[in-house]
Amino acid sequence: MRSILPKDWLRPMPSFPPDSFIVSDVVPSPNHDERKDGRPPDMILLHYTGMPTGEAALARLTTAASKVSAHYVVFEDGRIVQCVPETLRAWHAGVSSWAGDSDINSRSIGIEIVNPGHEFGYRDFPLRQIAAVISLCKSIVTRRGPISADRVLAHSDVAPSRKQDPGEKFPWELLSESGIGHWVRAAPLDLDGNTLKPGDRGEPVARLQRALHGYGYGIEETGSYDDATRDVVTAFQRHFRPARVDGIADPSTLLTLRALTETRPAPLA
Ligand SMILES: [Zn+2]
Repeated sequence: MRSILPKDWLRPMPSFPPDSFIVSDVVPSPNHDERKDGRPPDMILLHYTGMPTGEAALARLTTAASKVSAHYVVFEDGRIVQCVPETLRAWHAGVSSWAGDSDINSRSIGIEIVNPGHEFGYRDFPLRQIAAVISLCKSIVTRRGPISADRVLAHSDVAPSRKQDPGEKFPWELLSESGIGHWVRAAPLDLDGNTLKPGDRGEPVARLQRALHGYGYGIEETGSYDDATRDVVTAFQRHFRPARVDGIADPSTLLTLRALTETRPAPLA
């Protein structure tokens, strides 16, 4: 006999013990599979939920039909909910790339940070929420072994043409002060020097593309300041020079990129 009810009806998702005791609740998501390459995750990817409420976001992340999930959701009051065990592959990155890898879901632990986002009234992240994100990242790094600081990234870093989250209000500086993520103080906005902008061509543009690619961004060296280049520069600014996010490589952007490249941590053995 065929049931008219959906297959998963009345069959609750099996729960699991949280990976850390700073987790307040486990709300299991069916949206996961095995990590593909068998290597443990070595990247933390930060998102904002981009929905009117955190509860709506949690419902979406734990509903099979949405096909999306994250390992963790951090609410504005600091509450941390785990939806997928860290050993499994959650579905948060989508089409993305970093440092030559395109299966970012297999490489990463995904953290959704509740914020309405650019579409529903982007606002400052409360400090108690950021403190929870920092504690969670520290817990992940402590338990899982070293995760290189330059592999704590924004969704916009790995999907610059599609994503803006967690956005320019996200306080990367505070994370960095707590030892999470690679970050440098941005160069001042109004410096003299050359500006590269959409439409430009030539060796300086190729050099910019090489530098961004060298840091990890999925960008090709075309020598032409095309839409993809503008999107990557925009993503770079959201993360590292948030005072002006316009996709134009002004002297402050170029200098900040150079400082970032020069202070990059040595690769982990
Ligand atoms: Zn995202």
